[in-house]
Amino acid sequence: MRGAVIHAPGDVRFETLDDPEISRPTDAVIRTVATCVCGSDLWPYRGLEPVGDPHPMGHEYVGIVEEVGAEVTHVRPGQFVVGSFATSDNTCVNCRNGWQSSCLHREFMSTCQADYVRIPNAHGTLVATDEHPSGDLVPSLLAVSDVMGTGWYAALAAEVKPGATAVVVGDGAVGLCGVIAAKELGAERIIAMSRHEARQKLALEFGATDIVSERGEDGVARIKELTGGIGADSVLECVGTAESMRQALHSARPGGNVGFVGVPHEVAVDGVELFFSHVGLRGGPAPVRRYLPDLIDRVLSGRINPGKVFDLTLPLDQVAEGYKAMDERRSIKALLKP
Ligand SMILES: [Zn+2]
Repeated sequence: MRGAVIHAPGDVRFETLDDPEISRPTDAVIRTVATCVCGSDLWPYRGLEPVGDPHPMGHEYVGIVEEVGAEVTHVRPGQFVVGSFATSDNTCVNCRNGWQSSCLHREFMSTCQADYVRIPNAHGTLVATDEHPSGDLVPSLLAVSDVMGTGWYAALAAEVKPGATAVVVGDGAVGLCGVIAAKELGAERIIAMSRHEARQKLALEFGATDIVSERGEDGVARIKELTGGIGADSVLECVGTAESMRQALHSARPGGNVGFVGVPHEVAVDGVELFFSHVGLRGGPAPVRRYLPDLIDRVLSGRINPGKVFDLTLPLDQVAEGYKAMDERRSIKALLKP
């Protein structure tokens, strides 16, 4: 089979790789129906994370089950499945508590931009749809495997409640999905922070009520103006830089909450400032598996359409162009089809 391999910053190649095989009885192998490039894939692509030895890439996937190990009984070959970027057995104590992305047997997916993918912990990770979904639903189901699940978690971690005011920091795919989540969870006012016209438009379509294009302390001042001077009930931090985290923490009101899902890069939180802010803070890799059945239902019923974050579709063999387009911000998120 063939798949994406990163060799160095800016150097992603589509190469022949070994076909994945069942190596443990809890594995499955799926044939990729769609995969994509994640904002977090851009960290090594941009040289902001070390690449190390050349290695495969990709952690978002939907596919058709090809083969299952002996202990995988709830999905069978031929079924359409959605999984999460963090695999989980769905039975350990952390999984039972709803924190599947801290599963004691967790393995992060990292080989999904390929024709076939081995899924560890397949028995606890994959969720099959009753039927093969129509092609127009595939982008949204793919979004559920990471960006929508992560945006959902950001909104829950920020404790978005009916009637709340939510601020979304970051206008990438996760931030835009965070807008969908805030709306679904009943936020009355959703303020999206974005300075890019196409992304502002999509945020409004997804349910944002206000757009703030200022950044940093100017952005915070604007949020305060819009929230009676105190800040928002809930803030979704969907970037992961020192600036975006500061912006998020300063945008929350006393007693408000920040959900942070951007993978932190050189983020430091001032303990004294946090102490006196009365702001609650929770983040981490989203336990997407917990939300999969619900989010899949919302997609299949047409309630949400997070697949709109994909504004570029490429054949899988042009994966390098997907990285380039996202790096140059010509694309919010690139969908790849074998
Ligand atoms: Zn577990």
